[in-house]
Amino acid sequence: MSGETQQQTIGGPAVIKGVGLHTGRKCRATFLPAQPNAGITFVRVDLPGKPAFEARVENVVDVVRGTTLGMGEARVYTIEHILSALNGLGIDNMTIEMDDNEPPVLDGSAKGFIDAIRSAGIVEQDSPKHFFTVSTPVEYSSHQTVIRIEPSDQFEIECTVDYNHPMVSNQTLVYRRDQDYEKEIAPARTFCFDYEIEALRKNGLAKGGSLDNAIVVGPEGIYNQGEALRFPDEFVRHKVLDLMGDLMLLGSPIRAKIIAKRCGHGHNIKFLKQLIQEKKIPLNA
Ligand SMILES: [Zn+2]
Repeated sequence: MSGETQQQTIGGPAVIKGVGLHTGRKCRATFLPAQPNAGITFVRVDLPGKPAFEARVENVVDVVRGTTLGMGEARVYTIEHILSALNGLGIDNMTIEMDDNEPPVLDGSAKGFIDAIRSAGIVEQDSPKHFFTVSTPVEYSSHQTVIRIEPSDQFEIECTVDYNHPMVSNQTLVYRRDQDYEKEIAPARTFCFDYEIEALRKNGLAKGGSLDNAIVVGPEGIYNQGEALRFPDEFVRHKVLDLMGDLMLLGSPIRAKIIAKRCGHGHNIKFLKQLIQEKKIPLNA
């Protein structure tokens, strides 16, 4: 498998267009190659001075139904599905130019981002990857949520969801780096429960949400007629997708085991901050 030791970037430009999940605004996102050790950067090319947002945990300003980067008044919303695709493909360096504040949601999964990157190609760079590892476990817990990192010689995630809902009860998935992210994780779509929609809309969220880009779960089934679930456990697969996106905000690929129970963006970010503090990693290193 390429990209195991050397840093990687995208081979050339790739363009994605569509509406954002929460803002409903049209956005064109252009993926561009970046230098070794540059990391992942989002650039708002529509704003004066074209502010650049490094995809790092210290730049996260909001975690309600998505992970948002901020600088002053400027925002880049819902970055996690792009970051997850980059994690899954082992891409370390890339610039994402956007002409609005939220990347296209596409079908609610990471598949469209994977396809765009694959069509532009992936290139190995002249610098080794610097893996993040732990020698002892670090555990974050809050109420029924636990996120823990343990030593392991490869990246792996064991994720459990339990919504006490007839359609989404206890689901656990184990994903390891040597499994096929593109087939097993990337196609899993975002989801919400029918009773949440009114509150989401009232809070100005999910304005671009529809049955074309999200699974809507009711008490007896899903509302997405004509399309079945892509996996019987699509929900936990999407949780792994989101978590892999948020883990990119550490700034280095992880070589360790992550165990996550009832995780979500807010908890994921708090876990990363605790991890950085306990491992005493300097921010903006
Ligand atoms: Zn998601």
